[in-house]
Amino acid sequence: MSFSTTLYTLVLAAVSFGGMTACSSLVQSQSGVPIAIKNNLPMPVREAVVGSPAPEFELAKPDGTKVSLKDLAGKPAVLIFWTAWCPSCKAEAPRVNQLAAEYKDRGVRVLGINIGEGLARVKEGIKDFDIKYEVVRDADAQVAEIYKVVGTPTVVFLDNKGIVRYFGNKLPADYAVRLDKLFDSESESKTASVANDEYKGEKIVKTEVEWRKELTPAQFHVLREKGTERAYTGEYTDNHEHGIYHCAACGLRLFSSDAKFESGTGWASFYQPIAAVNVMEETDVSLGESRTEVLCSRCGSHLGHVFDDGPKPTGLRYCINSIALKFEKQK
Ligand code: FE
Repeated sequence: MSFSTTLYTLVLAAVSFGGMTACSSLVQSQSGVPIAIKNNLPMPVREAVVGSPAPEFELAKPDGTKVSLKDLAGKPAVLIFWTAWCPSCKAEAPRVNQLAAEYKDRGVRVLGINIGEGLARVKEGIKDFDIKYEVVRDADAQVAEIYKVVGTPTVVFLDNKGIVRYFGNKLPADYAVRLDKLFDSESESKTASVANDEYKGEKIVKTEVEWRKELTPAQFHVLREKGTERAYTGEYTDNHEHGIYHCAACGLRLFSSDAKFESGTGWASFYQPIAAVNVMEETDVSLGESRTEVLCSRCGSHLGHVFDDGPKPTGLRYCINSIALKFEKQK
């Protein structure tokens, strides 16, 4: 193995949090600068890519066949960056296999992009993880670098126009809902309500001092410090009025009253966001168990968590802090 193609064996950490393993390592980029690849990193790097055209690449499968981004054009695609030593990647592989099988007939390409490992190790990983989707090798980690990948696994959804619509460290819980919306982004954006509601990729970045000035201490605690309001204390838990719930920090439209339901949990609950791209998901291991955190796509503020015990049609329960929302009543 040459230096440039070697995953630095310097593994910074493989930390176990209540069954959830965070993977991190350093790989050598083509520019010669080691890239830190970690899991559970803060948001700014990830936020940068959603809403942007996916960078072009051409990579080879273990048998030498080349696959480029152009080969994926015209249909949604799923990229999953992985390494063979990463337990979280192994844990995610069966779900990605399932997704690949479910969407194969609809032309969705699922591409596993191995970062920086030798050919033998990649083949070993494919066998060990029982990977059934296509795998290509990003031997010098150049593609991982241009995609701003900072941890493994990293999952990226592209719509049929090649725009990045999801970027996270796992498959989102509502991946089917999100993928279904990516088949014809053009016709979807012609729908007035969606065009008005769908997050377009612009970012709002402020310093802690600025957020403190704009938010109340209680809002700051939840939105910027990932706090949780006490059950049954939220202003909107029992709100039954018709309208739109905005991000209390940046005003992005996040949830509609149409998707609100009585969960009995003491927190405002929705079965889906107003548009899939308007919220981001992150793995949260802060309570010693793995939960999925929900954040505003535009400003990165913490909103709450999403669980898979919700009602139809999505089966999801977005458990959201009222204080993270601002309700706009509609007639
Ligand atoms: Fe926001």
